[in-house]
Order: sequence, then C-alpha cells, then structure tokens
Amino acid sequence: MVKLLDGNIIAQALKEELITRIAKLKCPPKLSIIQVGLDPASTVYVKNQERKAKEIGINTNIHQHKETTEIDLVNFISSELKNDDAVIVQLPLPKGFSTNKVLSAIRPDQDVDGLHYINVGRSRLGYKGESFFWPCTPLACIEILDRYKIKIEGKHVVIVGRSNLVGRPLATLLEQRNATVTQCHSYSRPLSDYTLLGDIIVVAIGKPKIITAEMVKKDAVVIDVGMNRDEKGNLCGDVDFDGVKEKCSFITPVPGGVGPITVMELFANTVLASERNQE
Ligand code: NAP
Repeated sequence: MVKLLDGNIIAQALKEELITRIAKLKCPPKLSIIQVGLDPASTVYVKNQERKAKEIGINTNIHQHKETTEIDLVNFISSELKNDDAVIVQLPLPKGFSTNKVLSAIRPDQDVDGLHYINVGRSRLGYKGESFFWPCTPLACIEILDRYKIKIEGKHVVIVGRSNLVGRPLATLLEQRNATVTQCHSYSRPLSDYTLLGDIIVVAIGKPKIITAEMVKKDAVVIDVGMNRDEKGNLCGDVDFDGVKEKCSFITPVPGGVGPITVMELFANTVLASERNQE
C-alpha cells in the first residue's frame, strides 16, 4: 500500500521546534522580504509568508518596490537592510534585472535562501558546521526522507530539474549523503529511460502531471516539488498523482507535500541566522 508523505505533519513538527528555539533568543529574528513589481500572486504569497512567520514569532518586513532599477535595488539591499538577520528577494525578478547581481548584494550570512555565490560555493565544497545556508526546497526534500526514515545512502536518486533553486543544490545534498544521483533536464530523452532507474525520484520541472506511472519503477519513492494549475485550475504537481500512487511505495501530495515544509525551512534558516548573530 502506498504511503503518503505528509508535508503538513512535518511542517507542524518543525514549527513547534522553531518556536522553542525562538523562545531562547534575546530578541525575535528579523526577516526582510523584498518584492519587485506588483504581481498579485506574488503579493499573496508574500503576505502568507508574513502571516506564518508571525505565528511562530519571526518579525518580517515586506519591502515592496513597485518601480525600481537594478542599481537602486542593489543599493537598497546593501545599505538599508544591513541590520536584519535574514533577507530574501522574491523571484523571479522582472525582465532586465540580473538575478545574480541582486542576490549578491545580500550578505552571505543574511542569505537564508542560500542563493548567494559564497553560500553555493561553500555548500558545493562540503563545508561543515560553518556559517552558510542551503536553499530551502532541497532541505525540505531531505527533511521528508529523514522524517519518514527513508534511507538515502546507497540509493539511486533521479532528480528531474537542474535549477539553482531546487535541482542542483539537491543533487549536491544527496551526493553528500552517499546517494548516487542522476540529474535530468529538458534534454534528457527519453526521460523515462532515466526515471525508471530511480529508487527515489524527485521531480522539479514546473509542468503539470508530466511524470506518469509508466515512468516510475515499482515501489520507488516519489517526491513532487512542482506547483502547477491543471486544466480545471486546481493546484497540482509535476507527477500524475492518481496514476503513480498505484505503483510507488511513498509519494508526496500536491498541495500538502514539499510546499509547507519549504516555508518552515526558510524560517529555520532565519532562526539559524539570528542564533548566529546572538551567539
Ligand atoms: P525552473 O527554474 O523552471 O527549472 C525547471 C527545470 O525543469 C529545468 O532544469 C528544466 O530543464 C527542467 N525541465 C523542463 N521541462 C522538462 C521536461 N519536459 N523534461 C525534463 N526536464 C524538464 O523551475 P524551479 O524553480 O526548479 O521549479 C520547478 C517547479 O517546482 C515549479 O513548479 C515551481 O513552482 C516548483 N517549486 C516548488 C517549491 C515548493 O516549495 N513546493 C519550491 C520551489 C519551486 P532545462 O534546465 O534544460 O531548461
């Protein structure tokens, strides 16, 4: 029988752990969220993050820049936010902005999205116990496997997607946990030749229900990072959940899988930043 990997249960456990850690701090962690432009979906997402942060005792400041330039944004981040524990920029940025340039304006010790080149370099080089951050979604995927006691070591993990936000850092994390990792992307054809080999399959593509039952090995573990709308406008993942659940051993639902844990991992990185500052 397939087992549901329930992200809401894990997120709740993480939330309680974070509340305990925050109670030990001298002052609450401070997270700045920068939004450029006024995309309504982005505004809703940011407001939700603010509400959830408040619930656990993190102070947030949302900086909405309706109209700005790359240079003004870079100057704002490096001058106005220098006393905050944690800073994130809502992505994607509007056309014409260099994401790397803007993200590099955040100090590495405030970069709780783990996207600054110094954090990327440190994680890739296998730094341990030192001051750096992993991106939140890969952390959420590992959290699921660990909390459900699914062994990583020695397993063949097939990751579909190679973004800087999800696929690439996840490959690094899993390889450091002694998995054998195959990383697929839009040129991996036929995709099923690769996915069928995975003991664990993590899918982060951004296209609805692209991974079907025929593409999954029997009893594989399936983690669906994707967040899409189906033809009826309902939220769905990159995996055809109804078909694949008949064949795999464990699967994350969408919604209620990776998403709620990712938010808690952002808050966990924020608390970590604050703990490091208050040491
Ligand atoms: P992204 O930057 O657009 O990257 C998508 C990746 O998928 C790329 O590497 C692309 O390959 C690959 N790809 C696209 N079509 C493919 C195909 N037909 N076959 C194989 N590979 C294909 O997206 P992302 O930021 O990683 O996000 C992926 C999905 O996860 C989105 O739905 C996003 O909303 C969701 N997401 C969810 C969370 C969460 O917390 N649940 C967090 C972050 C993202 P190329 O490199 O060759 O273009």
